[in-house]
Amino acid sequence: MDAVVKPLRKAQLSDHVRRAPPATARPSREEAEAAVRTLLAFTGDDPDREGLLGTPKRVVDAYEELYGGYGECPAEVLDRTFSEIGKYDDFVLVRDIAFSSHCEHHMMPFTGKAHIAYKPIERVVGLSKLARLVDIYARRLQTQEHMTSQIATAIDEILNPRGVAVMLEAEHMCMSVRGVEKPGSSTITTQFIGSFRDSPEEQVRFMSMLRGG
Ligand SMILES: [Zn+2]
Repeated sequence: MDAVVKPLRKAQLSDHVRRAPPATARPSREEAEAAVRTLLAFTGDDPDREGLLGTPKRVVDAYEELYGGYGECPAEVLDRTFSEIGKYDDFVLVRDIAFSSHCEHHMMPFTGKAHIAYKPIERVVGLSKLARLVDIYARRLQTQEHMTSQIATAIDEILNPRGVAVMLEAEHMCMSVRGVEKPGSSTITTQFIGSFRDSPEEQVRFMSMLRGG
């Protein structure tokens, strides 16, 4: 097996890459469940009817999972890299990484796929780590634009590659089931850094590999 080495990091890591967000004063589980009861009553339903009695607990349990990204640090996930990549000098593309996040404006889901390419210098990261990185940022309240740039920045700062390309395509429930109610529309965001930003040809190759079968 190739040697595990520490990557050559950039001198200054961004806050969101270096550590999990600082914990704010967090309400207790009881307070969170009471808040869910309030919202249940706000819908017009009766929080005390049998079918809803366990709902506040289940919603808070789900929150622990859906927003688990606040307790995780991107730099730790990408910390182990592998050297000895031989003469490999092209980019590595992982496409169709499914994710599910929540928009920070409505706390409604947006779901879709992330495609990530980076052009390594001497060091590569385990492919599953890129998927974990996506999950860390997805399991926080997000905008799709912000999430795209955070993923790209984390890879750039930790692996220090020649370039990074990230594309997210997602459907936003706040657009498909409420508001303008346009199901089926998708939003695409891209962030190019380094060689991908500098070279339109590299961007074209990235796009055509995404379209390829
Ligand atoms: Zn929204």
